[in-house]
Amino acid sequence: MTSTVIGMTTSASVPAGSEAAIAQGAVTDRLVAANEAYADAFSDPGMDARPVLQVAVVACMDARLDLHAALGLKLGDCHTIRNAGGVVTDDVIRSLAISQRALGTRRVVLIHHTNCGMETITEDFRHELEMEVGQRPAWAVEAFRDVDQDVRQSMQRVRTSPFLPHTDDVRGFVFDVKTGRLREIDPAA
Ligand SMILES: [Zn+2]
Repeated sequence: MTSTVIGMTTSASVPAGSEAAIAQGAVTDRLVAANEAYADAFSDPGMDARPVLQVAVVACMDARLDLHAALGLKLGDCHTIRNAGGVVTDDVIRSLAISQRALGTRRVVLIHHTNCGMETITEDFRHELEMEVGQRPAWAVEAFRDVDQDVRQSMQRVRTSPFLPHTDDVRGFVFDVKTGRLREIDPAA
């Protein structure tokens, strides 16, 4: 079973619910093997670390969102900052501050998406964690019910951050996982 999974060319061909059938370490082994092939064909692009398009993209970590393909981005074009929900947390502000102040980006694109897992959990998640492990996490879950409103809140957090020098060009979108299309969110709506 394990070797069948490793031999397949697309992850999509792994049946849903087959997690238990994937042996410990097999997935990472597959990634390492893929890297060997990648490195064999790789040549140093000689790029600077500063993103060519001077843009930072903050997006949800969702597996269905192929940011580079969806936005026509190439290697070296942008900074990509991803987390659960694509929400602007303190750690995202940390990355944006470094992106803008040390690596020259001047604009921010925020991408949430339809059918996000963050719409299905609540702040109770923290309480349940505390009950289970005896320690309350310091972080907020940042769950949301209204994706448009959460994009607006994220835009607002970027625009009002005292740590970011470039807050004029900040735009937010919802990516539709069924159509692949972006829908822009009006910050004032
Ligand atoms: Zn998501």
